[in-house]
Amino acid sequence: MGYHIDSPREAGTTRRDVLGMAAVLLAGGALSAGAAAPAADEELDDSCAATYDAEFESALADGDAEFPETPEDEERGLAAGPRRFTLPLRRRFRVTARYGVRGNWLAGHHTGIDLAVPRGTPVYAVGGGVVVLARWSGAYGNAVTVRMPDGHYAVYGHLSRIRVRKGARIRAGTRLGSSGSTGRATGPHLHLEIRARRHYGSDVSPYRYLARRGARLW
Ligand SMILES: [Zn+2]
Repeated sequence: MGYHIDSPREAGTTRRDVLGMAAVLLAGGALSAGAAAPAADEELDDSCAATYDAEFESALADGDAEFPETPEDEERGLAAGPRRFTLPLRRRFRVTARYGVRGNWLAGHHTGIDLAVPRGTPVYAVGGGVVVLARWSGAYGNAVTVRMPDGHYAVYGHLSRIRVRKGARIRAGTRLGSSGSTGRATGPHLHLEIRARRHYGSDVSPYRYLARRGARLW
């Protein structure tokens, strides 16, 4: 009963059809001008509930204090050259929740970007630095946080496996673990969050952060 076959009798164009088409064209134009993410994202923005988690934040603060930045860390960062950033995944992914979409997170918006890949997909560090957290972290599930030489922090959440240890000095492209859906996630995806400072709510757009450093997510 869902079938509808066009017949010449119905092919006439009404004023409503024209207005409808104009709306579609306008919407299409606005989307392409806005660049950025694939269009279907927002329907799925509840797949990730990585939000403020006291356990995660206190473990992060401890790790940060335990492994302070050394002059060598900074030198290593500078020596790595301008192409020292890379993508966190080396296979196709789907963006299931964009950065900054409004929703039920404590910050009022999604503080990271969700990249859906099958469970077990290798996850790599987008930039080098010091691993200040590598453990079970409540809403973030198994998570790794890397403090980068520019003072930003990269958080990788919902991992099924962690392959680095706290305190490790790593490079961009180092394998951190495998993707999963641990913590508050309804499906397997990588939650990648970039913070300008250590605390929750200092997040910046991972897409822009990486794009400015030569690594484009799409
Ligand atoms: Zn997320």
